[in-house]
Amino acid sequence: MTQADQQKTIGIIGGGQLAQMLASSVHHLGIKCIVLDPNPDCCATNELGKCQQIVAQYDDEQALIKLAQSSDVVTYEFENVPGQGASLIADHSTIHPNPKALSVSQDRLSERAMFAELGIPVPPFAQVDSLDQLNQALEKLGVPAILKARTLGYDGKGQVLISDPSKAANAWETLATVPAILDGFIAFRRELSSIAPRAVDGLSESYPLSENIHRGGILRLSKAPARNVDGAVAEQARSAIQRILEHFDYVGTLAVEFFQLGDGPTATLLANEIAPRVHNTGHWTIEGTKTSQFENHMRAVLGMQLGSTDPIGCSAMINLIGNEPRPGSLGAMPQAHVHLYGKEPRAGRKIGHITLNAPTEQELDAMLERFTRIVG
Ligand code: AMP
Repeated sequence: MTQADQQKTIGIIGGGQLAQMLASSVHHLGIKCIVLDPNPDCCATNELGKCQQIVAQYDDEQALIKLAQSSDVVTYEFENVPGQGASLIADHSTIHPNPKALSVSQDRLSERAMFAELGIPVPPFAQVDSLDQLNQALEKLGVPAILKARTLGYDGKGQVLISDPSKAANAWETLATVPAILDGFIAFRRELSSIAPRAVDGLSESYPLSENIHRGGILRLSKAPARNVDGAVAEQARSAIQRILEHFDYVGTLAVEFFQLGDGPTATLLANEIAPRVHNTGHWTIEGTKTSQFENHMRAVLGMQLGSTDPIGCSAMINLIGNEPRPGSLGAMPQAHVHLYGKEPRAGRKIGHITLNAPTEQELDAMLERFTRIVG
């Protein structure tokens, strides 16, 4: 870390909790951050993120140029950054990760094409642009199946589960008749995610796989390192994320979500989607590893060496969705690392997370059991 690094400013498109945690991960390095976000109360500017802000829409050209000119390098915290905005930034500054990864991740069809090109297995799926195509896809893939909007879906939004082919028209209307894909329903054994940072010089590290539990399409719990991961499964994940990192000449932290089918050495991973950014299933790395996904993302985009991704014991991350824990309940859990983002509670909204960390899996399970009993 040189004197010059300490005076650097990183621009971040988006000022939500990911920007807040990105910024706070480099406070100790003396690095400053400036966010572009239309919401003047975005959480990256509160006492945790301490970011400066340009209050503007994501497609405001003058604001994007100002962000580029105020920053040594620009990054982003969400994948729906308009493509033109990313190109504009690239004309005036450096942007990482590669905007090509951004545009691929914005469209589920391009994402599946990228997986296919790289030889990474995916769930059976079909392109759906009309009700006719939906009916044909249902005939081919059977039910249950999941109709997913190609763009702008997150946390289970823009998705409809179809259990009965006669309900196809309803599902198509519910999705607002937008270009979509139909995914065959995968009765997966579990969901895993792989998170890996890659530096400017091409060297990459990877975090241990995390096992993730979703309800209603929203992540509830991640446990890491994932347990009973066969060496062959770990290798499938490692090789898939490595191919994607190299494909995009990627700089920063990348996440890939997988469905695991089967168990043991014959288990296979199907890739569901990528996130070209820090990821909710990696929040445990703040307390659970030597260098968090956030700090490593920032180190990478600034051209610094990556820090170690080695785990410290066993971790569980619980998302706080909709409301805060019962007042006083956390007092009985002094070991809980509580992260409140400073957002107004609202149904379905991620307002914080809690990480539990213990030396062994058994101790972590006991802590989780106590957490569920006391905090809920
Ligand atoms: P996604 O927005 O694609 O990440 O989907 C959100 C969640 O819905 C996933 O984490 C899974 O729990 C579930 N899901 C998505 N696609 C499938 C599928 N093809 N089969 C079964 N569950 C799925």
